[in-house]
Amino acid sequence: MITTDERVDLLGLTPSEIEARLKSHFAGREQPAYRATQVARWIYGRDATDFKSLTDLPAREREALAQAFAVAEPRTARATLSVDGTAKHLWELADGELVESVLIPHGPRLTLCLSSQAGCAMGCTFCSTGWGGFRRQLNAGEIVAQYRASRRWAAANARPPITSLVFMGMGEPLANRKAVFAALTILNQGYGVGARRITVSTVGVVPGILEMARRPEQFRLAVSLHAPNSELRRQLVPLEKRYPLPVLMDALRTFNAAGGQRITFEYTMIAGVNDAPTLANELAGLAREIGAYVNLIPFNPIPDVDWTASSRQKILTFANRLRERGVRAAVRQPRGRDIAAACGQLRVVHLGRRVTNQE
Ligand code: SAH
Ligand code: SF4
Repeated sequence: MITTDERVDLLGLTPSEIEARLKSHFAGREQPAYRATQVARWIYGRDATDFKSLTDLPAREREALAQAFAVAEPRTARATLSVDGTAKHLWELADGELVESVLIPHGPRLTLCLSSQAGCAMGCTFCSTGWGGFRRQLNAGEIVAQYRASRRWAAANARPPITSLVFMGMGEPLANRKAVFAALTILNQGYGVGARRITVSTVGVVPGILEMARRPEQFRLAVSLHAPNSELRRQLVPLEKRYPLPVLMDALRTFNAAGGQRITFEYTMIAGVNDAPTLANELAGLAREIGAYVNLIPFNPIPDVDWTASSRQKILTFANRLRERGVRAAVRQPRGRDIAAACGQLRVVHLGRRVTNQE
């Protein structure tokens, strides 16, 4: 379904942009300026999607708003529930493109894993999204809409409120900086999600890290490292050729120097590929240099490669080596594996049709 909508999507505007747009809209209609604040509150606070529910406005004004503006929410194409309580949503965007987001409960907390692109162009060899190829960038409204729709779903399904956001769904957020940086501002300033509760996960897009470093807020940064040296990393992460590890480390030093929060290294553990104990020594060196925390993620099997996850014992040995060298490390429990919602498993499979960019 392709819809061409000329209206401005309010979900993709920052609070100051919304205010400016709405003020001029209402001024043109000889309405008081406070109307703009009323509408902004309604957008951020009440999650409403239809201007008809804005009942503190005269009917004429509601109609005029609906003609000029949209609140573009995605259609829920599918919601899938894991035995461990993880919930995956497949969203259909206005042009029919599909993206996924995942809600992960941890006791009283709820983390939302957001997508920033439909597909991903980075082609990491162990990632299902990478194998699916790139479809298109999401715009800021499409990122924010995942948060709104998930928040509403959580409330309707007796889940706790969303306590943190991670850009670890489909796509490379720092390869879509315009939309992701706007979405960060909107989520933080508009919806009041604290910057420290939002993590941007990157495979190492250096210009994006430097831009993050320049932002005044303290958004968290996770870096998908997967290997402690360029030679091994090149086999897992094609972007290593463009931004080699030493250049990436320089960017992380800049991020730290700018007063950023503690960086997390993500390290997906693949049996026989990157789990040798000596690699833990190398990784500890890098982590100590920039004070990074290490998250070890057991590899989640994907259809395209026959790698397997490192054994529990291997992962614990690796973690201990890191700790012995003064590095804080945790082993991340895979969540939602049964519904292909775990890290790196997201790839749109819809109505029996696998959506890839190989036409
Ligand atoms: N593009 C960003 C964010 C999305 S990927 C990034 O790469 O950081 C989110 C996390 O899932 C990354 O740390 C990624 O390396 C990891 N991941 C990808 N495929 C995986 C797999 N098959 N098993 C476990 N983790 C995987
Ligand atoms: Fe893209 Fe991240 Fe997957 Fe690499 S790991 S292909 S950057 S989504």
